[in-house]
Amino acid sequence: MNLPTLLATMPKAELHIHIEGSLEPELIFQLAQRNGVALPYASVEELRRAYAFTNLQSFLDIYYAGASVLLREQDFHDMAWAYLQKAAADHVIRTEIFFDPQTHTARGVSMETVIRGLSRACKDAKKLGVDAELILCFLRHLSEEDAFATLEQALPFREHFIGVGLDSSELGHPPEKFARVFAKCRAEGLHLVAHAGEEGPPAYVWSALDVLKVERIDHGVQSAKDPALMKRLADERIPLTVCPLSNLKLCVFPDLQQHNLRELLEAGLCATVNSDDPAYFGGYMNDNFLQTAAAIGLDRQHAYQLARNSFEGSFAEPSAKARYIERLDAAFAAA
Ligand SMILES: [Zn+2]
Repeated sequence: MNLPTLLATMPKAELHIHIEGSLEPELIFQLAQRNGVALPYASVEELRRAYAFTNLQSFLDIYYAGASVLLREQDFHDMAWAYLQKAAADHVIRTEIFFDPQTHTARGVSMETVIRGLSRACKDAKKLGVDAELILCFLRHLSEEDAFATLEQALPFREHFIGVGLDSSELGHPPEKFARVFAKCRAEGLHLVAHAGEEGPPAYVWSALDVLKVERIDHGVQSAKDPALMKRLADERIPLTVCPLSNLKLCVFPDLQQHNLRELLEAGLCATVNSDDPAYFGGYMNDNFLQTAAAIGLDRQHAYQLARNSFEGSFAEPSAKARYIERLDAAFAAA
């Protein structure tokens, strides 16, 4: 079996996907029509053209505009369902989906509407052969008080999400800004992750680990600038949820050939491949795997390690992880 076919068909987990970032222009227009929301774009094509952003902030501006069409429980379900079908087609068998409740509650949509819609889609995903869980993310450009209020609203629905994360504009909003709310989440038994070292410095990765006590780093590619940090990440096998096409689109690397995924893997880090905001960044999981493998010259062993890391880095129960890895080994033995 050739490498592209193996990459596409091997079982894998996705650990870094913002569900609002999976909204395709077609679905945005469909939901706008269903809900009577006026969009500042005349057509699907015009909206797609507006996706030519150059940095994280210009992306976030259009991302929040797109989310404005989500009003009812069914809208959240349909958004997640569209993503889950694509994930299943890419042989994703486990996904841990980020959602940004503050983007919705700030518009008057209730926490219950958001969580019930997403959660129902995750349960339905079993029919597609996908184990799907939710991770609630706090928007870091907002205050810690706002994050506390969000957590309070979400706790009545605690059984519907497995962890919390930290996303949105990284620069100027270091992890330590959220130290107290993460401590509270830890006390609630929630898993902890945070975006760090995407545009921000290695210092943000250190403080995500030491102050927030996260179990995984989202992105983390700037860690390569700090040898002591690289050693720690390797020694402790702390997963990094790397998103190559997102890094390319947001100019974290000038081109995909210069992406450091291979360097991270070869330094023994638990690096994984993920799609981040696939509707906006030009690709879902297999697009990320195939384009990155071609650009940086991944081989069969790298492919296996990336898929294995995705399962080991997931928050699945040990028995489920063992099952996933058995399926991965079977796929490689047959290929
Ligand atoms: Zn992200």
